[in-house]
Amino acid sequence: MTIAYDDQNIFAKILRGEIPNDTVAETEHSLAFRDIFPQAPTHILVIPKGPYVTYGHFASAASEAEILDFTRLVGKLVADFDLAPVGDSGGYRVASNAGPDAHQEVPHMHMHLVGGRILGPFAMPERKV
Ligand code: AMP
Repeated sequence: MTIAYDDQNIFAKILRGEIPNDTVAETEHSLAFRDIFPQAPTHILVIPKGPYVTYGHFASAASEAEILDFTRLVGKLVADFDLAPVGDSGGYRVASNAGPDAHQEVPHMHMHLVGGRILGPFAMPERKV
């Protein structure tokens, strides 16, 4: 199945250098930059440079080199931003929203890496029905 990618989305524009961003790391296949509306002291978005819409799209269609690059970058960011849990404190959350049910706002695959405060349980709004 072909998944349509809208190259006018805001992260595609960031990748093309058309709008500014606060880059924290860049690799051959991935870019990491600070979220413009941070939910915690550390809130980084990690994106592949390739045209993938969702995490599932990326995980199934990206090359092994892209997946390895992305995954290792997440690991490096956890270390560089000192997010790894130590004993009974510290830690972080990674999350990737996909599609309308998950309220994905930007249709370019991205991983939120959030930490630097107590995050509490994974929060989901009440069901409406
Ligand atoms: P999601 O709901 O998972 O699609 O999250 C999209 C995220 O992108 C939100 O947390 C926004 O704050 C963030 N965002 C939107 N525009 C920008 C931008 N220009 N630079 C950095 N982060 C952005």
